[in-house]
Amino acid sequence: MDGLMMDVPLSIPLLLRRTEALFGHKPLVTRRADRSLQRCTYGECLRRARGLAAGLASLGVTPGDRVGTFCWNHSRHLEAYYGVPASGAVLHTLNIRLHADELAYIITHAGDAAIIVDKVLWPAFAPVRERLGNIPIIVISDDGDLPPGTIDYEQVVAATAPSDSLADIDEGAGALMCYTSGTTGRSKGVLYSHRSMVLHALTLSLPDCLNLRESDVVLAVVPMFHVNAWGLPFACAMLGSAQVLPGPCLDAASLVELFESERVTVTAGVPTIWHGVLKYLDEHPGHDLSSLRAMVVGGAAIPESTIRAFDTRHGLHIVHAWGMTETSPIGTISRVPSELASAPPDYQYAWRATQGRPAPMVEIRARSEQGLVAWDGMTMGELEVRGPWVAAAYYPGDVAMDRWTDDGWFRTGDIVTIAPSGCVTIQDRAKDLVKSGGEWISTVALESALVGHPWVSEVAVVAVPHPQWGERPLAVIVPVAGCQPTIEELRTFLAPRFAKWWLPDAVVLVDHLPKTGTGKLKKHEVRAMFKEQFAQEQRP
Ligand code: AMP
Repeated sequence: MDGLMMDVPLSIPLLLRRTEALFGHKPLVTRRADRSLQRCTYGECLRRARGLAAGLASLGVTPGDRVGTFCWNHSRHLEAYYGVPASGAVLHTLNIRLHADELAYIITHAGDAAIIVDKVLWPAFAPVRERLGNIPIIVISDDGDLPPGTIDYEQVVAATAPSDSLADIDEGAGALMCYTSGTTGRSKGVLYSHRSMVLHALTLSLPDCLNLRESDVVLAVVPMFHVNAWGLPFACAMLGSAQVLPGPCLDAASLVELFESERVTVTAGVPTIWHGVLKYLDEHPGHDLSSLRAMVVGGAAIPESTIRAFDTRHGLHIVHAWGMTETSPIGTISRVPSELASAPPDYQYAWRATQGRPAPMVEIRARSEQGLVAWDGMTMGELEVRGPWVAAAYYPGDVAMDRWTDDGWFRTGDIVTIAPSGCVTIQDRAKDLVKSGGEWISTVALESALVGHPWVSEVAVVAVPHPQWGERPLAVIVPVAGCQPTIEELRTFLAPRFAKWWLPDAVVLVDHLPKTGTGKLKKHEVRAMFKEQFAQEQRP
């Protein structure tokens, strides 16, 4: 028997109609590149978002088309966040930190019909544009001065009369898109649906997740090109929470200034950001951050010592969460359960440093070579997840067998233990990548390039711990007999093909690399060999 409830599509317009009706007056504050603050409201933002949708349609963008953005976090990026999906098109956020070749590949693979670019990012985008065909490039410029052959964003917003309302959209339709680093080969596209975004926004807001509410002032440090700024722009719009957008000013001093002046209550970012903020606060005491009730951290593990330091030295509360581009991102979150409320502080800190328990509607399990592992807190296995905001395939429909199980669970590539409580601890990573400051570096791509160097016989690039960036790539090289390649030579050799921050910081020359019986490189062993050595070197 069917239920007798309305079949209202779970679409982004459903959330935004509420925002327009109830929270049109609530503020959005942007820090511009020149450091000045620009203030507007949800009402203005959504009016302009509808104008953008109409302007894009007049440029030939139709429902289902992908519209790229190459932007910092600011209110006009929010207009695209709301206006593009609400028009039925798909917002495709581009990671401004990638190399021009990779960006050109991603834009072409996604088939972007137009791209919105920040003028201040033009130096990074110009080489990408050279690699593209004739796609309309719309530029957001504060001074009205535009690169040749581009379209003024303000004209697109104002050109056509916007529709009066935000109409429903089929909940299964694609709404946003984000590419993530493939474990081997090129980046992979994740296509979020309206339904998945709405369910994610609802769950993200729950008290045991981010605990968001109308009275919050939310500052996402996490870039809007990283998994939709972790879904915060939609959760905030749904609830009417004010938003503060830091633009390109992501240094600790600028962030602390905004936390203080705008009375921010919730903020979110990767550990590298919070390590910088901790150092800044230690060195510059006296800031009034009493409004700040949660600093959400994800994208990489946060050490227990950092959680403790924020608590004890600054009265600031870190909330540790785990997620992925493929999981929208919220997967697990570390909230101390009620039965541990009076447990000793050390116990509570240890719990908070784990990746925590699955969010509602996210199911987890872990698998070793022997099959699914027990939730005993000791047996390691690869984490697998399932849920309404977990990707079922990569765009345009690629179900890579190494990423999905036969019964459709997503294989995360994270090696974990799961405690009887359901609490997940990441122990290792099966995927052969380096995560530096929240961004991926492909070791496979660096190795393929390095073996092309005439002095390199064999090479393994592995992640080693780093106090600021979390991890950095180390090149471990068996040189050609009689040759001594230096790190400077290798970096110069790699520089034309990779973003600067991808280049290894150090090289270690070895006589041989460990191999399996079939001659396959044992990357795990190489990583283990250097992990401890580098960790020790960094200890004070
Ligand atoms: P991305 O798709 O770029 O967001 O990266 C997702 C990956 O980042 C996960 O599979 C983990 O390897 C890592 N990651 C994310 N959050 C955490 C966390 N809290 N602790 C440890 N690793 C994390």
